[in-house]
Amino acid sequence: MKKIGITTTVPLEVLLAADCQPVDLNNVFVGDSRPERFIAIAERDGFPLNCCSWIKGIYGVCLETGIKDVICVTGGDCSNTIMLMEVLRLRGLNAMPFAYPDRPDVDEMQHALLTLAVVLGTTLEAAEKVREQLRPCRKLALKLDDLTWRENLVSGWENHLWLVSTSDFNGDFQKYEKEIGQLLDEVSQRRPRPDGELRLAYIGVPAIYAHDLYRYVERYDGRVVLNEIQRQFAMPEPGASLAEQYARYTYPYSIRERINDIKTELERRRIDGIIHYVQAFCHRGIGDIIFRDAFDLPILTIEGNDDFFLNNHIRTRIEAFLDILHRQRSDTTKTRSVKKS
Ligand code: SF4
Repeated sequence: MKKIGITTTVPLEVLLAADCQPVDLNNVFVGDSRPERFIAIAERDGFPLNCCSWIKGIYGVCLETGIKDVICVTGGDCSNTIMLMEVLRLRGLNAMPFAYPDRPDVDEMQHALLTLAVVLGTTLEAAEKVREQLRPCRKLALKLDDLTWRENLVSGWENHLWLVSTSDFNGDFQKYEKEIGQLLDEVSQRRPRPDGELRLAYIGVPAIYAHDLYRYVERYDGRVVLNEIQRQFAMPEPGASLAEQYARYTYPYSIRERINDIKTELERRRIDGIIHYVQAFCHRGIGDIIFRDAFDLPILTIEGNDDFFLNNHIRTRIEAFLDILHRQRSDTTKTRSVKKS
């Protein structure tokens, strides 16, 4: 299969139907043992210091790994990708645009899917068949998510890792299905995590220091039981067709769609507090104003740039935030027991 890089989640069913193997360039970037080298390649080639590290990382991965074809999501993700696409073309890559519609409209989504299918030389009928093949993988990923918040059997990091990987199923969906199946068997043997743990929601793009973040939170008796965007990658609302599935996927559309989805999950998962991650120099950071207006729960906003680990400043802020949430919880428990007596 021909490898095609993707700059964020795309309708991978269409790519697979065209006998192409999607490769999520973000995951290659942060999954590398020395991810900073990809940023260095981009900066050496002229990318500004104040450009988002994900964009620079993707560029570096494209050049370093020799990938020839890339689908650049120019609508519904990041305006920087438009210029990234132009530079990749300058370097001789076949960089193809894909744009989600402006709003979650099934007909418009159908049109976008059809355009992509024509560009890649396949049909939507073939893509619908692939959708059926991927269904078990998506179900298992969502089962893992369920076991995270309903049964308290899965860590926040595991939840992040397996859900974020559904953007390309780590390059082999059959292997993914087998491996996540094995993990679920192992998870079902675990003892549930302690009741006293704080239940946290993580919203925003995946953190550049995700590996460190989830573990650090757990050191202070907190656990992420909702990974908003990662969960969306797994397509929790599949609908009756590919077009419906991608119209119900909240990430590319207005922040209102995301807020409705997050609110439902905050309540369902009995969340104590929210961590909002923003990437330095990213337009999505401005959305923090809207999130703070929309949610009644305490929110900690943290930023990352090109640091692949938590610095002391962010560690202290996380500790203080979790401390406040623990105190709030114990005050609520005391008030309840006073009322009872
Ligand atoms: S973090 Fe923001 S600026 Fe960076 S690639 Fe994603 S959307 Fe674009």
